[in-house]
Amino acid sequence: MIACLGRIVQDTDADSIPDDDVSTLSESLDLQGTIESGGITDVAGKDFGGLYSVKPLALIKPSGTEDIARVVNAASRTSHLTVAARGNGHSINGQAMADGGFVIDMRSTEENHFKPLTIDGSHYIDVSGGALWEDVLKRCVSMFRLAPRSWTDYLSLTVGGTLSNAGVSGQAFRFGPQTSNVTELEVVTGKGEITVCSETQNSELFFGALGGLGQLGIITRARVKLQPAPDMVRWIRVVYTEFEEFTRDAEFLVTQEEGESFDYVEGFVFSNSDDPINGWPSVPLDPDHEFNPAYIPQTAGSVLYCLEVALHYRNSDRPSTVDTAVSRLLERLGFIQRLKFELNVSYVEFLLRVKQVEEHAKANGNWDRPHPWLNIFISKSSIVDFDRTVFRKMLKDGVGGPMLIYPLLRSKWDSRTSVVLPEGEIFYIVALLRFVPKGPTVEKLVAQNHEIIKWCNKEGLDFKLYLPHYQSKEDWKRHFGNQWTRFVERKTSFDPMAILAPGQNFFKRTHIIKP
Ligand code: FAD
Repeated sequence: MIACLGRIVQDTDADSIPDDDVSTLSESLDLQGTIESGGITDVAGKDFGGLYSVKPLALIKPSGTEDIARVVNAASRTSHLTVAARGNGHSINGQAMADGGFVIDMRSTEENHFKPLTIDGSHYIDVSGGALWEDVLKRCVSMFRLAPRSWTDYLSLTVGGTLSNAGVSGQAFRFGPQTSNVTELEVVTGKGEITVCSETQNSELFFGALGGLGQLGIITRARVKLQPAPDMVRWIRVVYTEFEEFTRDAEFLVTQEEGESFDYVEGFVFSNSDDPINGWPSVPLDPDHEFNPAYIPQTAGSVLYCLEVALHYRNSDRPSTVDTAVSRLLERLGFIQRLKFELNVSYVEFLLRVKQVEEHAKANGNWDRPHPWLNIFISKSSIVDFDRTVFRKMLKDGVGGPMLIYPLLRSKWDSRTSVVLPEGEIFYIVALLRFVPKGPTVEKLVAQNHEIIKWCNKEGLDFKLYLPHYQSKEDWKRHFGNQWTRFVERKTSFDPMAILAPGQNFFKRTHIIKP
């Protein structure tokens, strides 16, 4: 088999392995699933970001965990083959790619696990690493009236893909990111070993793989905490002119006890203009809602701020009870009273809200154009400076898509995972979700992202990139800071030849990891 792999890899153009060689490769790997070579670049060599493209050697559609272990083992017997798990390919910077290596299509394993469990009275679901969160949601709610507690805004992402990063949305202030809401993983390590891990069993692998950017292992199964699913959601947006008032209220809401606040808290910055994408029209929740700019105070600046909150309720709750609970919370906030937008939607509809955006963007062609997105965690101590220069000056006309900003609490994140955060209990996620219109502007937008990061560094802001992307090991070292040594030790233990997730640009494929 090694001879076969070696010959194929050395003698052929990675994108055009002859059919005979593919079937030889398939036989030698002894796969239950399938392997493809020709014409796979469009699927396995691209991602949502649309900024990078590579030629993988082959796309593997494994039937299960054993197939994945076989592929990693086969790669480990060569001197240079790499393996990338591909969730739904929604990375921005080629993180799920393997140039000249094997790409594993995790989606083909999505049906392998779906099992509810009750342990000490708490509910969990065992799901496949390749399952989409939207399917986990629909199945859990329709079958058990239960649902995971922590989400991402958009759910056509895989369980393994978000757990390898963090998984953040408006519930994270209460329950932490998705990485704080799993209790057990099954992982194929870079040594090709299938390992079950948890807080008490193989804990270095468990915590290392969570937020581990795919560097330590391929997550094939996760045990996700569940809670009773509400029926409905009161979804509300309110507008602020002053950043200090917006952040004060957002921070107030995320630091209250459960029952004393909303169930979801997010926010975004928008341009103080009638621009249909970046301005006032982006705020109302329903086509029947009208954003009347006459209510904006004369003192308002170039951008405005929208706090987005939601309260769960049951069909059996009286409308007046929900109204009272909402009013009690809103009356403590200092938004522009006449710029408030409300909608009642089902819980599932609320969680699938970005699906509509996707359908719209697909219809007008924007979904398939490049997305030079930038996600940053910024400490509370630096967020006012960031607003003053980046939002109010550099991005005052918007980015062609949402500019999210909302606070999170460090104490809800487990410091034993591989996720890296700025200092301080309160920090903000800032997400610049650029949708690029037609035209040669992508390079300019990528350059603007670099300019923002450069400015943050120059001004000494306390920040860390989320969904990070760096070109050099030195940058990664800086990103991990005092967690670098622990990360390298974990890498050395679980993927000593740096076979996994080469698209993250961390470690060179080798036989030994050098710190
Ligand atoms: P991929 O992009 O396929 O993979 C990401 C990385 O994880 C790669 O390095 C890959 O090799 C590795 N990987 C994939 N599967 C596994 C696995 N099973 N085991 C180990 N490693 C694996 N993120 C948020 O936190 N909150 C949001 O609200 C949010 N919204 C988003 C909205 C959109 C429209 C998009 C495109 C992205 C959004 N993201 C959000 C980012 C998202 O979390 C990342 O893109 C993430 O990588 C998940 O995408 P994926 O499943 O397609 O993984």
